[in-house]
Amino acid sequence: MENRLIPSVEAPPKKLEPAWWFVFMSDKMMVAEADEKISVPCFTNQADIGLEPIREWYLGTLAGRHCYCAEISESASVPDNMAFRGLRYLYGRLEEFLHRIAMKAVHMIEWDRTTRYCGYCGMETIRARGMIAKECPCCELLIFPRISPAIIVLVERENRVLLARVKRFTSELYSVLAGFVEPGETLEEAVQREIEEEVGIRVKNIRYFGSQPWPFPDSLMIGFTAEYESGEIKIDEAEIADAGWFDPERLPTIPGKISIARELIDWFVETRSKEKGIAPQKERIYKPNE
Ligand SMILES: [Zn+2]
Repeated sequence: MENRLIPSVEAPPKKLEPAWWFVFMSDKMMVAEADEKISVPCFTNQADIGLEPIREWYLGTLAGRHCYCAEISESASVPDNMAFRGLRYLYGRLEEFLHRIAMKAVHMIEWDRTTRYCGYCGMETIRARGMIAKECPCCELLIFPRISPAIIVLVERENRVLLARVKRFTSELYSVLAGFVEPGETLEEAVQREIEEEVGIRVKNIRYFGSQPWPFPDSLMIGFTAEYESGEIKIDEAEIADAGWFDPERLPTIPGKISIARELIDWFVETRSKEKGIAPQKERIYKPNE
């Protein structure tokens, strides 16, 4: 089976065969739980299991089977054997290819929920044909899903990594720095600005690392590595609680595996530990439990 969504906006005219349903109640997704195995439910029609979605989008096909996302109201009754779980909780518990589609599904639902009316004239929007978009029947404004680019960057200084604890984190979690790209900025300028604003240092050799959709609610994380150039750490006290340079073998508590932040830190630990000829330290990972 090819474990990849083939996206499409052309939904079949009728629901006649079992399909994957990514159904949300607020930001939690409905999953079938049996014997510690978690899966996305498959059924032909919502009515079959007593669901009445308040919004629904067709996503495409997965291994020849149709995929839909939908939202049900918070007062809806939940079918037996189904539970609602957050996507962070489901990471590592749900098969990865299904989790990736779930990340797309939650983004689509949030976008649909927040674009019911035209932002320009206030008229109720309708679906545009042949694309993932809505349009205003009055002023013809087209509304695409909002995707907010944010940079995330691992800064290195003589085999040590810059990690910071952000004030809005309630835990003792330390991570690499991140921030939204501003209008008129290149990604590299956003990297340089964020680091200067948050910890007061300059960096050089900014290099692309990879990217990750992060639909909480609509970000695209664009990862970089960079090297320290000049300055001493001076934290922005409004945003940052603490920041410092850490050896790969003496890291504080770091993010769980779902995030590109963790991928960056893992890359650093692996490559630098090898250089120093030491074994990477045992994991101390923040585990979300909702
Ligand atoms: Zn309008």
